[in-house]
Amino acid sequence: MILLKHADDLTQFLEHKRQEGTIIGFVPTMGALHEGHLTLLKEAKARKRFTVVSIFVNPTQFNDPADFKKYPITIENDLNLLIEQQADVLFLPTQHEIYPNGLDSQHHYQLGNLEQLLEGKFRPGHFQGVCQVVDRLLSVVGACELFMGRKDYQQCMVIEKLIEHRGLKASLKIVNTVREPDGLAMSSRNQRLNASERAIAPTIFNTLRFVQTHIKAGDQSNLLSQARDTLVKSGFKIDYLELADAKTLEPVHDWNGRQEIVVLVAAFLNEVRLIDNLAV
Ligand code: AMP
Repeated sequence: MILLKHADDLTQFLEHKRQEGTIIGFVPTMGALHEGHLTLLKEAKARKRFTVVSIFVNPTQFNDPADFKKYPITIENDLNLLIEQQADVLFLPTQHEIYPNGLDSQHHYQLGNLEQLLEGKFRPGHFQGVCQVVDRLLSVVGACELFMGRKDYQQCMVIEKLIEHRGLKASLKIVNTVREPDGLAMSSRNQRLNASERAIAPTIFNTLRFVQTHIKAGDQSNLLSQARDTLVKSGFKIDYLELADAKTLEPVHDWNGRQEIVVLVAAFLNEVRLIDNLAV
């Protein structure tokens, strides 16, 4: 595996690779790697892509400074995992490499309603920060297949918009959520759960399954309040648990039984915020 820290080096190197006819498979991450991240890499490798993984904990997407400060950093372990999985390149930039002109954005990304709904509502500025970093990373990496996880459902939709609006030469490949055996979606933030929180955490997935299996056409308010009650009784503080249109994320209150929908949740277990979603 080649380790590169400078944006210009990566750009030149990949330009050369593309001239040889190679297709780049790019996996952006914030590190503290787990099987979810590695599955994105494996997917890129299965498609015979030249794989580039980036690790950069992006300050501009954290609306809560405490969350940024406590974000787990396990770089040595990450390096070992990436070598083991035979990633071709690790891009490990400093903040200055990503934001040479400082953290303030020069651009406001037009994300429409996506920015007001769900994560957008509860994490103001988060998706602008996500767009800022992905826009920059894609300008460094150049034309590629971009591998991202369905666990961050709304983020995938935001990135589709970013690619379209900026005319970026990236093709988004969405990979299914990887879960622990008890259903908990893998996440770097799971490392911050203590033993008793970890024992409760799978309730998130079980609640999504409950909604998925009990939903019937019609008004959803009873089903959703039952689901929310379960989470609250288990000790969660809910930001949202909603049914939404799978393509627009607009809330669905009355389901016609045919519309493609997703159930999405974000909830805190004490200090740790977990998100998950399931197609219905
Ligand atoms: P992060 O390091 O949390 O920014 O995540 C980097 C990429 O990994 C994003 O595209 C995430 O959606 C994806 N990812 C994180 N957790 C999972 C998971 N459990 N299953 C699949 N993809 C994931």
